[in-house]
Amino acid sequence: MKTNRYLINGRSLERIRNICELMVIESIKKVMNEYPSFDQCSMCVEDVYALALSRIPATYAHLGSIILNKEVTDEDVESVVRFAITQVADHPKHN
Ligand SMILES: [Zn+2]
Repeated sequence: MKTNRYLINGRSLERIRNICELMVIESIKKVMNEYPSFDQCSMCVEDVYALALSRIPATYAHLGSIILNKEVTDEDVESVVRFAITQVADHPKHN
């Protein structure tokens, strides 16, 4: 994210992230090969990422901090990612 819109008085907020982002990315990498109908193009992977994150309660924290997120488990994330892959594979935004 290289944009000045995440600056306040020259101080960057780019390192404050939804801590579920990395969980979702790891989960997509883990399971996406199980879906032959999922084409894995950039647009579809981005759609899965956005759809999955939209369905998980967001918790924001500094990237370097250690947060124990007890509300969302790896299993929860994987379940949402599998749903998102199925949705996007069935209804891609492109032809
Ligand atoms: Zn695609």
